[in-house]
Amino acid sequence: ANTILSSFGTTIFETMSRLAQAHGAVNLGQGFPEGLEPADVVAKASEALVSGPNQYPSMMGTPDLRQAIARHEARFYGVELDPMAEVMVTSGATEALAACLFGLIEPGDEVVLIEPLYDSYLPIIRRAGGIAKLVRVEPPHWELPRQALAEAFSPKTKLMILNTPMNPSGKVWTADELAFLAGLLERFDAYCVCDEVYEHLVYDGRRHVPLMTLPGLRPRCLKVGSAGKIFSLTGWKVGWVIAAPEVLVPVAKAHQYLTFTTPPNLQAAVAWGLGKEDSYYDGLAAMLAERRDRLATGLRGVGFEVMEAGGSYFLTADFRPLGFDGDDAAFCRHITEKAGVTAIPVSAFYQGGDVGHFARFCFAKTESAIDEAITRLRRYF
Ligand code: PMP
Ligand code: GLN
Repeated sequence: ANTILSSFGTTIFETMSRLAQAHGAVNLGQGFPEGLEPADVVAKASEALVSGPNQYPSMMGTPDLRQAIARHEARFYGVELDPMAEVMVTSGATEALAACLFGLIEPGDEVVLIEPLYDSYLPIIRRAGGIAKLVRVEPPHWELPRQALAEAFSPKTKLMILNTPMNPSGKVWTADELAFLAGLLERFDAYCVCDEVYEHLVYDGRRHVPLMTLPGLRPRCLKVGSAGKIFSLTGWKVGWVIAAPEVLVPVAKAHQYLTFTTPPNLQAAVAWGLGKEDSYYDGLAAMLAERRDRLATGLRGVGFEVMEAGGSYFLTADFRPLGFDGDDAAFCRHITEKAGVTAIPVSAFYQGGDVGHFARFCFAKTESAIDEAITRLRRYF
């Protein structure tokens, strides 16, 4: 029963967005930005659609985009890549993750995961025949339980998934935590699939450090990126995997039977966009930090206890001070229906346990959407 996909429910993001729509709610649930799309990148996609080409690009991605991704890694992290051997374009980070997991996991392999979990990890791991070993980090401080993490590793561990900056917690893993993980990966000879889709969304002077940049870790790491997050264009579904040539081979085998390729005009626009000046990247993070603070202040004013978020575009908030009688799933349904504001229950990112009083709010929204959400919540509570 472990491998049957139909035993999983409909993903929480779809469920809550449909509910938001039905009730005309301000949707701070599913993570998608509003009002942040760079018009010049969109224009490039539009031009490339008309000019073509519009046939299947190479399965590994267009040379232009692979080179642009390699330049991006060199520019921001000093990682020198061979774009033709170490970069593969995918249809979103979701496909990149699936290709990594299907490519590397053999039935019976153990996979170390850290809850809260992004929703696609576990279903794919189970379908691949992997055995998940879960370690929890929890609000309010999302501290890494080092002993538990060490105990989750065994000689059967094939890989672990690291998500930093982390969804939904906003946790940005510290250099010290990354070094600890690195030691375990080396000791147990394991790979790490590094879900770094929020790499540019880090705040308050924090810096994103790809695990791949730690000494000796390059051959163990598969770094997953997403243009959806870098350009606030989540519907485009352009992602990528960066890994050592021999690690990328099995991942490419999975990719060729999942999607094979990705629309050429979107690849062209993303290749162009990745070369945007530093002010674009800095401006995006600065604007999002402002939105985060605006939403956090508003939610505190309503009565929520808001957790700190160093990265991503999510805030988590404890709703117990509001006196609501029910769990987080009930709370998120309730505020959608009664207050007209949608959030995501944090327990959806865990396999059970006592985390039933936190809601996740997306702050990658217009100021007016954030203000409207706060007005509605204030009116209701
Ligand atoms: N990983 C995490 C942690 C995410 O939050 C998301 C965003 N939705 C993804 C992967 C998937 O990204 P994409 O939309 O590029 O498939
Ligand atoms: N990653 C987005 C989130 O966490 C949603 C992606 C999706 O809807 N599949 O909200």
